[in-house]
Amino acid sequence: MPQISGTTKLLGVIGNPIAHTFSPVMHNAAIAHLGWDYRYVAFAVTPADLAAALAGFAAIGVVGCSVTIPHKQAIIPLLAEISPLARAVGAVNTIWNTPTGWHGTNTDIPGFVAPLVGLERDWGQTTALVLGNGGAARAVVAGCHQLGCGEIHVFGRTAPKLAEFGASWQDLELGTIDRDVSVPVRLQTHLWDELPSFTLRDRLLLVNSTPIGMYPAVEDSPLSTETLSKIGADAIAYDLIYTPRPTKFLQLATDNGAIAIDGLEMLIQQGAIAFKLWLQQPAPVEVMRQALLQHLGD
Ligand code: NAP
Repeated sequence: MPQISGTTKLLGVIGNPIAHTFSPVMHNAAIAHLGWDYRYVAFAVTPADLAAALAGFAAIGVVGCSVTIPHKQAIIPLLAEISPLARAVGAVNTIWNTPTGWHGTNTDIPGFVAPLVGLERDWGQTTALVLGNGGAARAVVAGCHQLGCGEIHVFGRTAPKLAEFGASWQDLELGTIDRDVSVPVRLQTHLWDELPSFTLRDRLLLVNSTPIGMYPAVEDSPLSTETLSKIGADAIAYDLIYTPRPTKFLQLATDNGAIAIDGLEMLIQQGAIAFKLWLQQPAPVEVMRQALLQHLGD
């Protein structure tokens, strides 16, 4: 990649804390592969400084940024334009600078869906169980809806937050992958304690969107060994976590015959879509994947 010079352009990720982000690894590998005069940097930005940071980035010509915790919702009122999907879901994870101000969208949703679309599956017959109701769960629910999952059940541990989450989808219509029309998002919410008594059917898509099982608590799993022993062999277990690979949840699920998908592919795919938005150039996805795998020591 060209040396940093007077013409080097900036991309980055804003979040807080941000020191442990993997995004610079995959984006700088992609930039180097293409030989572009760009660098991708992590910026620690506190909520109080978010507006000032965006104004400053615009002033110095930052081309685009990834947006992560805790700014995915708070950034929305600061943007000049936001994609209909990101507005509907209420979360932005990618922004780019335009002459009229910052534009934003949500690439977590297509990033989540990407490893699923290639699977042979009757999604209308699939029941999605989404564990957790935080920011990432919003992308997961939207993705399950886009796939056309027959039922979507969301489990959360904090009743008021869960109720708020459920209410936020009411009256919301989103498109699906196989049809060009928007249809209402239908989901049911359940308290976490109901998980052991929930009847597990065939054709499950289990998604962990909690941090349970993330390094260093690698022996934790959001679903118990006993619960996972009841899943059908046609289940898909999807963990948004990517350290460790695999998580305990995915290990237990595959022991019971499930297909396992970890969070690395979602990370790569959401980044690849963002990269294309910023540089108007398809991302070298395999280069990004290999850079992350090397970074993770695989
Ligand atoms: P978040 O907004 O903080 O949400 C976390 C959710 O998990 C909340 O609903 C929280 O419940 C719940 N939770 C936390 N600990 C729990 C426990 N012990 N028992 C039951 N529920 C628990 O975080 P997020 O942004 O959604 O991220 C969630 C996970 O997804 C993280 O591991 C993150 O690294 C991962 N992620 C991966 C990608 C990717 O590209 N692979 C992208 C985004 C996120 P309360 O709100 O009630 O505390």
